[in-house]
Amino acid sequence: MPDAGVPGSDETRAVLGIARAWLRELAEEGVETAPAAPGPVETPAGAGDTAGRPTPLATPRQAGLLTTPDWGVDPGLDDVREALGDCTRCRLSEGRTELVFGDGNPEADLMFVGEGPGEQEDLRGLPFVGRAGELLTQMIEKGLGIPRSSVYICNIVKCRPPRNRTPQADEVATCSPFLDGQIDAVKPRVIVALGKPATSLLLGREVPITRVRGTWHDYRGIPLMPTLHPAFVLRQYTAENRRKVWEDLKAALARVRDPSPS
Ligand code: URA
Repeated sequence: MPDAGVPGSDETRAVLGIARAWLRELAEEGVETAPAAPGPVETPAGAGDTAGRPTPLATPRQAGLLTTPDWGVDPGLDDVREALGDCTRCRLSEGRTELVFGDGNPEADLMFVGEGPGEQEDLRGLPFVGRAGELLTQMIEKGLGIPRSSVYICNIVKCRPPRNRTPQADEVATCSPFLDGQIDAVKPRVIVALGKPATSLLLGREVPITRVRGTWHDYRGIPLMPTLHPAFVLRQYTAENRRKVWEDLKAALARVRDPSPS
């Protein structure tokens, strides 16, 4: 649901929402003064005027940082998928076999957000169907005792990064309106962010995942639980890492079933 308390355009509301979420996060961590704002977004060299006035700042939309795709206020997943189309908005499209939009229950209470498709996902057009996906599926089905088809699973970028590298900031920024659209469409009660890139995007700042996992946050009014990425757990397959993810997922499911914060 749009933030009814903030007047102005969708962009203004989006920027204010991100700023407020960030300030809340800082306050939760006991930070009393916000760090200086990052420098302004500059338009390309030569875009200033010839009378010597300073180069005007680009709005986030002009800078390509924010786009508001045209799917209305209460989109369905099909609207978001249609707006995404045969996407070539960023360089990741160049190497993809299949675009990986998302999978699962369009009305899920629990939503998982991963990083980006890997090899198997790219070949099959579905998220989390490789080795990390097998582990995630096991954790959902055997651990939580609910069918994978009852949750919704997607990623912060919809195309496979080359050699499975971490998606770059501009790729994430370009794709993030579509993740927001998916969240608006599914309206989950709880989001689980898998790993650092998904968590950092949803918290609006770079975070150490090992420090923030297992603690409640908020993304646009939806409780957000960060946890370790299943690929990380596979690489460091310790009882401790498995226990941490298990606890985080249990907390997420408990919050779905009883939304009052514990
Ligand atoms: N890792 C991810 O983050 N997403 C996938 O879809 C598969 C592996």
